Amino acid sequence: MAIERTLSIIKPDGVERNLIGKVLTKFEDAGLKVVGARLMHLSVREAELFYWVHRERGFFGELVEFMSRSAVFVTVLEGENAVAANRDIMGATNPENAAEGTIRKEFALSIGENTVHGSDSQENAANEIAFFFSGTELHGAR
Ligand code: ADP
Ligand code: MG
Repeated sequence: MAIERTLSIIKPDGVERNLIGKVLTKFEDAGLKVVGARLMHLSVREAELFYWVHRERGFFGELVEFMSRSAVFVTVLEGENAVAANRDIMGATNPENAAEGTIRKEFALSIGENTVHGSDSQENAANEIAFFFSGTELHGAR
């Protein structure tokens, strides 16, 4: 196992419902450390670019509209096996399929408004971290 970094976003439904603290507690209790953080409101263009890989999917327009409707809380999480660990803590995309104790099981409203984003591979984590943060904005072990 190696120390990794991954990108996490608390989506508009989470920030709107005052869930930043509860979500971060899930990460911290699991041993992931917040090494970068930013509260921001994505433009439509920024949301499109971030989710560009999904541009052909039927839900793309809905996803972009949702992600740009209000503020998001973007963090970089660092820890053992952080990419997979974060995905485990998040739970399945559809909250109906999410395991007990996961963020999406406890907080998600629907498959679209599912409270958190998390990188799905180390390569995507590196790209997504660079999308939001410069090196001097990150304050971890390296
Ligand atoms: P994950 O966020 O678990 O990695 P995906 O990468 O497949 O899931 O999808 C990205 C995001 O798009 C999801 O988190 C969710 O917000 C939205 N989404 C995925 N599938 C649907 C769907 N069938 N209808 C509406 N929104 C969806
Ligand atoms: Mg994904």
